Amino acid sequence: MLQLFDTARGQVVPFETREPGKVSMYVCGPTVYGPPHIGHGRQTVLYDVLRKYLAWSGYEVRHVSNITDIDDQIINRAHDEGSTPDDVACTYERVWWEVMDALGLDRPTDIPHATAYVDQMVALVQELIDRGLAYATSDGVYLDTSQVEGYGLLALQSLDSLQAGARVETNDEKRNPIDFALWKRAKPGEPAWPAPFGDGRPGWHTECVVMSLDLLGEGFDLHTGGQDLRFPHHENERAQAVALGKRFANHWMHHAFVEVKGEKMSKSLGNVTNLVDLLDQYDPRAFRLLILRSHYRSPMDVTHDALADTEAALHRLDTFARRAAEHVEGGVPDPEVLDRFRSAMDDDLDTPKATALLFDLVRQGNTALDAHDLGAAVPVAAAVREISGALGLVLREGAAAVPDEVLALAHARDAARAAKDWSRADTLRDEIQSAGYVVEDTPAGTQVRPT
Ligand SMILES: [Zn+2]
Repeated sequence: MLQLFDTARGQVVPFETREPGKVSMYVCGPTVYGPPHIGHGRQTVLYDVLRKYLAWSGYEVRHVSNITDIDDQIINRAHDEGSTPDDVACTYERVWWEVMDALGLDRPTDIPHATAYVDQMVALVQELIDRGLAYATSDGVYLDTSQVEGYGLLALQSLDSLQAGARVETNDEKRNPIDFALWKRAKPGEPAWPAPFGDGRPGWHTECVVMSLDLLGEGFDLHTGGQDLRFPHHENERAQAVALGKRFANHWMHHAFVEVKGEKMSKSLGNVTNLVDLLDQYDPRAFRLLILRSHYRSPMDVTHDALADTEAALHRLDTFARRAAEHVEGGVPDPEVLDRFRSAMDDDLDTPKATALLFDLVRQGNTALDAHDLGAAVPVAAAVREISGALGLVLREGAAAVPDEVLALAHARDAARAAKDWSRADTLRDEIQSAGYVVEDTPAGTQVRPT
């Protein structure tokens, strides 16, 4: 049975579901005002691995992840670019999904957009006001945290110590320094929705609590996100549900930061500043494998060396998959190996152990194939295929594909030859060869294959 570290309980506990065989999970989604960064990649790949593993284990998974499509950062970006918040949100949501598709993620089963839920958010804020748990100020509506039972659970601190540690408040209308905005009154020129307590827009913490409870219902199984969301974002979502007497998430799972050479997210990857750049330079599967090789609760280093090393490791997996492909069809994975995989993953998602197992299997499989021992090789190769699939790593069993940009060079060379531009044709041949491909002239034109 899967065991996960639960932030609220401070220990690894059995993952229990509300309904047998079904998992309901909420993953805080992006605020779409720029291209996804490398930390987003860790988050989305990690929870995709969890989801695929749960599905592989026989669960039906409902995975909700929101899009925050109205926010200060979106408004500021629109202002800087001379466009509208809608345009900014649309543009970067499109980029987001292009990148997530390239990473091989299953799209969430539900993708609620904040702007489609404003009426329900207004209703929630009104209910909190009516019950005397929230109050209006000149710039919005705030939750009175002193009235929330057990506020501070996910901060792992008491209300008193949070109040004492809160930064000096500039807003003297707030009752407590850690009270937070449920609703922000519109400033001139900003998008606004009507509300009885003043036109404006919802606070971020109110979005997620409304959308998660609406789609997944009370007491849903799992709420996830990065360590940085634990407090205040997740605590503040939880506080609103608790204040209204609703059961919120049953398990809380948080992952550690991405670091670059020991520093939290920085620009030291040179020209790689976001996931779009990273995927321009590396196989998306290598990024997934890099994430799998770190435990989710440990900080993870992303460097060019680490990515290059992971690409080389991925190449070993692909090479084995190609070598074993003709034998593996119809083969049954060794059940003892699958048990080892399951016990690693069930142990708080020990993906480093699971991937180490995968590479051990590849070594064993290669040895067996070298010895022409198919009886030993086939169950191992079938297990490699099964485990890779459960982790979302699609191995290339067919002949190595020629990338589009190399094919484009081959077509350009044919065009140059047709135009009798021999020096350009030669230059293009050199380019294809230096990319690692053999160039052959055939009656059908230039053919390329990997060296
Ligand atoms: Zn959230």
